[in-house]
Amino acid sequence: MSKLAKFAEENGVKYFMISYTDLFGGQRAKLVPASAIAGMEEDGAGFAGFATWLDLTPAHPDMLAVPDPDAVIQLPWKPEVAWVPADCIMEDEPVEQAPRNVLKKLIKEAAEEGLRVKTGIEAEFFILTPEGDQISDPFDTAEKPCYDQQAVMRRYDVIAEICDYMLELGWGPYQNDHEDANGQFEMNWDFDDALITADRHSFFKFMVKSIAEKHGLRATFMPKPIQGLTGNGCHAHISVWDLDGKTNAFAGNAGGQVGEVGLSEQGGYFLGGIMKHAEALAAITNPTVNSYKRINAPRTMSGATWAPNTVTWTGNNRTHMVRVPGPGRFELRLPDGAVNPYLLQAVIIAAGLSGIRSKANPGPRYDIDMYAEGHKIEGAPKLPLNMLDAIRAYDADPELKAMLGNDFSASYIKMKHREWNSFVSHFSRWEKDNTLDI
Ligand code: ADP
Ligand code: MG
Ligand code: MG
Ligand code: MG
Ligand code: MG
Repeated sequence: MSKLAKFAEENGVKYFMISYTDLFGGQRAKLVPASAIAGMEEDGAGFAGFATWLDLTPAHPDMLAVPDPDAVIQLPWKPEVAWVPADCIMEDEPVEQAPRNVLKKLIKEAAEEGLRVKTGIEAEFFILTPEGDQISDPFDTAEKPCYDQQAVMRRYDVIAEICDYMLELGWGPYQNDHEDANGQFEMNWDFDDALITADRHSFFKFMVKSIAEKHGLRATFMPKPIQGLTGNGCHAHISVWDLDGKTNAFAGNAGGQVGEVGLSEQGGYFLGGIMKHAEALAAITNPTVNSYKRINAPRTMSGATWAPNTVTWTGNNRTHMVRVPGPGRFELRLPDGAVNPYLLQAVIIAAGLSGIRSKANPGPRYDIDMYAEGHKIEGAPKLPLNMLDAIRAYDADPELKAMLGNDFSASYIKMKHREWNSFVSHFSRWEKDNTLDI
């Protein structure tokens, strides 16, 4: 009997949502009745790939999304439906540009070197009115709203419902809070293998949006939904383990500035890879036009953006691109809420492996307040100022492109250029305001 048919029988599932994620992070699905799931588990569900954000034409053969039965999740808020992430194939070959395939390829490469990457993410979000143009709670107006006790309780019904579901699913959630912007929240659960975290990240976005809708609200992970307020980050915490997952290969003392914060030689090289490829990897971690309103941003109402603008690393200090909060792991603070969950993990592994292979030096550790004293640092690269600069930086990094796959990279760059062109051909109010009377 097929694994999913058995799952349906045991859990009372009526429909499976066979889901894949396109290049822009959109989740695409077909609802398949349990009676038809055995065949789909074998052959996949058919999609016209061109109809989604993939670099395909209408003339391409059917793309088949083959569900991964080990990753199935029953919807806690609608238990007759189960979500199952899928891997895309076409004419019996993996579709190289499909994000989950890109990640699986990199996990395999890391495993060939005896490494197992484990990550946790912090996917911040806003809760807005259904139209998406205002914060849903009219009383949530404090200048420093972070950890606001009253405001988090006014959204208790939404937050607790989502946290209850994470408990039920066994993700190990451990805290929920109001974040640094009015209307903004964060919910944290335990780190795990990169593929598990990527699937959970995708499901988390689906779940948060669904539960908000159920309460007549709208949740958004948009990087900077409201001008002047702190944006939605998606920090990633990273550690690398041996294959049995018992020994943290990042924990140790490499000597020097890296060793002082509790990183091993390998940890230092991995970090070196992230630093070396930072400007290019921003094209993936900060993938939208709006992303660049979060990084490089002016000070927000709360006093700080909490987002980086320069390629620097440090110890336990939240003003840099990379923070080492304690021994054996580091935090990449660059990614934002628009990041594709699979490509986020993939680009971290790609840059990190490249760093290990080339014994990359992460450069000096800066223990200063970057927001106040950043201008004093000379020689640290600036992050891209906009999406076009980021795509160009990615295109100019052959090593990172090859690590993620040349097919994937060519498709990604092409699709993102198209998106940029669509943006710049859009006429804006700003142009009129600044050009009309010239
Ligand atoms: P902060 O807001 O201080 O950056 P959070 O507690 O919000 O931290 O998020 C920390 C994330 O890091 C969680 O997902 C947690 O599970 C994860 N994490 C903790 N230790 C490790 C580790 N060794 N490797 C990878 N991720 C880790
Ligand atoms: Mg049809
Ligand atoms: Mg956090
Ligand atoms: Mg946060
Ligand atoms: Mg963080």
